[in-house]
Amino acid sequence: MGRIRILSDNVANKIAAGEVVERPASVVKELLENSLDAGSTEVRIDAENAGRRLLRIADNGSGMLRDDALLAFERHATSKLSDVKDLLAIATLGFRGEALPSIASVSRLLLETRSSDEQTGTAVELAGGKLLRCDELARPIGTTISVRDLFFNVPARKKFLRSDQTELAHVGSLVTHYSLAHPDKRFELYHEGRELLHVTPVSTLKERAFQVFGSSTFDDLVDLEPRTRELRLPPPYVPHAQHQEQTEPREPETAEFRIEGLVSGPHVQKLNRNSIFLFVNGRLIRDKLLMHAISAAFHNLMPPGCYPFALLFLNCDSGEVDVNVHPAKTEVRFRHGSFVHDFMRDTIRETLMQHRPVSAIPLPPESPMPLREGSRSFLPQAAGTLPFSEFSRMLDSQVIELPSDLTLTAPNQEAMLPEVELVTPRIAVEPAVAVEPPPRVEGREPFTKRIPDTHGSLPHLSPEWERVDTLAALPDLRPLGQLHESFIIAAGRDGLWIIDQHVAHERILFEQVLRQRAAGRMEVQQLLMPIVLQLSAGQQFEYSRIADELNSTGFETEPFGQRTLAVKAAPAGLHSGDIEKVLFEILEIAEKELRSATLDEIRRDLAATIACRAAIKINTRLEPTKVEWLLRSLASCEYPMTCPHGRPIALRYSTKDILRSFHRI
Ligand code: ADP
Ligand code: MG
Repeated sequence: MGRIRILSDNVANKIAAGEVVERPASVVKELLENSLDAGSTEVRIDAENAGRRLLRIADNGSGMLRDDALLAFERHATSKLSDVKDLLAIATLGFRGEALPSIASVSRLLLETRSSDEQTGTAVELAGGKLLRCDELARPIGTTISVRDLFFNVPARKKFLRSDQTELAHVGSLVTHYSLAHPDKRFELYHEGRELLHVTPVSTLKERAFQVFGSSTFDDLVDLEPRTRELRLPPPYVPHAQHQEQTEPREPETAEFRIEGLVSGPHVQKLNRNSIFLFVNGRLIRDKLLMHAISAAFHNLMPPGCYPFALLFLNCDSGEVDVNVHPAKTEVRFRHGSFVHDFMRDTIRETLMQHRPVSAIPLPPESPMPLREGSRSFLPQAAGTLPFSEFSRMLDSQVIELPSDLTLTAPNQEAMLPEVELVTPRIAVEPAVAVEPPPRVEGREPFTKRIPDTHGSLPHLSPEWERVDTLAALPDLRPLGQLHESFIIAAGRDGLWIIDQHVAHERILFEQVLRQRAAGRMEVQQLLMPIVLQLSAGQQFEYSRIADELNSTGFETEPFGQRTLAVKAAPAGLHSGDIEKVLFEILEIAEKELRSATLDEIRRDLAATIACRAAIKINTRLEPTKVEWLLRSLASCEYPMTCPHGRPIALRYSTKDILRSFHRI
């Protein structure tokens, strides 16, 4: 007798569960996707013990017929796909017919559902994949699935779960992000009866983002207006014989891609990618290509190894993206990857260039946020934040494992569900200020404060003071002086500015070098005496790879015997003592990054290194004319927000914050 056997469905389901169900959040993801596929407009999720003891998802979607309710637990049972052709144009989130049987095989599951086509509903109960009962049930249209004791029969999996806080943070983050992808739907998430998220339907992504993040995070975000880019596909190859038969000329095929979303400015710097959320055709995915496109957009705006917050929605024809790559459907493959990559990178970069968000001088929190004695709860007690920021904060930090005795309970209900601070306090300023109405969030009243009018009237302000949240005010700055011979203090129409003279100059030079390099007209200084450098074997190798680029960027270098380099000319502005340092720094960068970096990135790194060395140092007294020149040149930079290494250039203490700090508003 042969040795190969067909595995029973139960074993096969458990194997599939290994891939599909990693943790409570994966159950939530699958069930939430099913609810959305069923056309629900309201979804409520209840969890107990961070989802280990119970996860219940109730929706008002189409519901299931009695027969379907039983069939859904069979392997590969799906209503979303019938033919292999359908795989090329999947419009639903699910299609593999794997989730329900997989989840049922590693938990005790109760499905309660009713379709509008039947008078009664159905209850189906399973444990460890075995059917326990199937009964009639009276209930409204829709579906409720309760998953209890996850992994009760897979102890090995259970051990891999992290702390309650971590698991709950994953669940919270997942629900939050699906809620962002569907602003027109209601989402509720409760943990042991405590509300963690509750968002009502709104009409735009911006309003939903405001509901979810509250005003403080929202202020850091830049709106990526919807953009489309069309890809013209080459006409398909038609063999000669067929070509003759064809009478109609073929239309050139095109594919349209669309991107929208929200992204933080370069001053928001996260240490990992956990705050980047990518949706491709409504599906939450992780994708290396798109991640790279985002990093490329922030190249020279943020230090390497730092990541922004991003919420990006890419939509395209379903034929342009293969979603059937991974059992958990979290990976995709694009048909025209490099086109998508460049579109994403350019969209983000151009938006940042337009908006030029500015870093604010951090203010102390309005009220102190002491943790209640003995409670050590991690939930925020300050107004203006929602628990979401906590989910993301926990997922952000590398150290998310908190001691297990930490409770998830907030001291009181109010602290857990603070009111969202909606608008900047409005005051009457002469002349009348036209302030755009704040986004209305249902169920929450705008936050307003009365001004006690006992300290004289407000300073006379130009109408911009409320609105200018960008570097637009840069050209009109009036320098007031230098602080510690390092920072320029300036008055702007929207507040007080502090500018780091070194990084400002660095940005100016960086853009200048890139401009000159692009035009092929580098300003060069000939050295009276060539500088001779001794290279190691590794440096010699790197040098030979970047020699051309060096020579196009204003250096004139020549090998000069064994592992020796003669430098005869260098970019103008570099002190002779710095030339050697610049070259060694570049060789070092080349060694670390060259293999993965594109030519454009190397060029930028080279420009950044030259700029850094040639820029005015801190602790340098500047003549007023030089300060004026620096501010003017900075204002005309393409991207005056951060230095090429990602440090902020300018901090602004906005008039609004000044007024607030003096309790005038
Ligand atoms: P898939 O989503 O890949 O089709 P699942 O195992 O997740 O596979 O679900 C199996 C089937 O059960 C779905 O195709 C759908 O018909 C039905 N179903 C699951 N959840 C729901 C729900 N919340 N409302 C209506 N139908 C559902
Ligand atoms: Mg599904």
